[in-house]
Amino acid sequence: MRIIRAEFMGLCFGVRDALAIARDTNRPESVSIYGELVHNPTIQGELVSRGFRVVSEQERDSTLLKDRVMITAHGISQKRLAILNTQASEIIDTTCPLVRRVHEATQTLERENRFVVLIGRRNHVEVQGIVEDLSRSIVIESPDQIVDWKEPALGVVSQSTTTPELAQRCLARILELNSLSDVRYMDTICRPTRQRQQALEALCQSVSMVIVVGGKHSNNTRQLAKRCAELGCKAFQIESAQDLQAEWFTGLLAVGLTAGTSTPDETIEEVAKRLATMAEQNEPGF
Ligand code: SF4
Repeated sequence: MRIIRAEFMGLCFGVRDALAIARDTNRPESVSIYGELVHNPTIQGELVSRGFRVVSEQERDSTLLKDRVMITAHGISQKRLAILNTQASEIIDTTCPLVRRVHEATQTLERENRFVVLIGRRNHVEVQGIVEDLSRSIVIESPDQIVDWKEPALGVVSQSTTTPELAQRCLARILELNSLSDVRYMDTICRPTRQRQQALEALCQSVSMVIVVGGKHSNNTRQLAKRCAELGCKAFQIESAQDLQAEWFTGLLAVGLTAGTSTPDETIEEVAKRLATMAEQNEPGF
């Protein structure tokens, strides 16, 4: 069985930079991380073992924070930041610049008196951070949630990790049902997400099954697995090499490998190594 890697996969620069800031932070025991720095259990474990207090996304509002607070790569609203500034002696901000770009785009659209339509996952922290600063907005997760909002002007953006394919389908439906509105679309999908999606599409042309490595809570990892299914390719989403099961590969000649933007290189290499061992032990199939 051949193991074919996607041309682009794994950590993006936004996550690398956030991690580098965390690793360079002195006195980690005095820092609360305001949510999951990145949606990956391996990285979360490393941060906890270094002494950081990781406050879960669900408990951000109810937990007493330490003196210093680290904002995650997913960003937060200006409203929330103002509150944190009154509580913490230092804010360590690791917000990805491409998430900031989504905030800026929505603020521009709001200044133009547009009703903002955000294509993304309603409960995701990035999305919450964006809409908390908007006075009029709606989050949609799929085309079937789109209606005629009867607004004179709409502004449409995407969560940074939305698939280009979903964004296009939603945009087409918005234009169809809101033909009397002036619609402005700003493309806010981040480049690493786009590259990984395109590489996956190419990969799915050569294999019938793909292993997608990444955290369960990682939006872009889930999107990669979902896209495989849409392309008629079987996908297994795993967090580590231990999750691989030999029976998945019975009779398979080739398997694809990809990973979300919050998956560390070491985790990908461990998965690739275990796949290679399984392939050798079970030739021609498993
Ligand atoms: S996935 Fe995109 S937006 Fe998110 S941290 Fe990476 S580069 Fe930034």
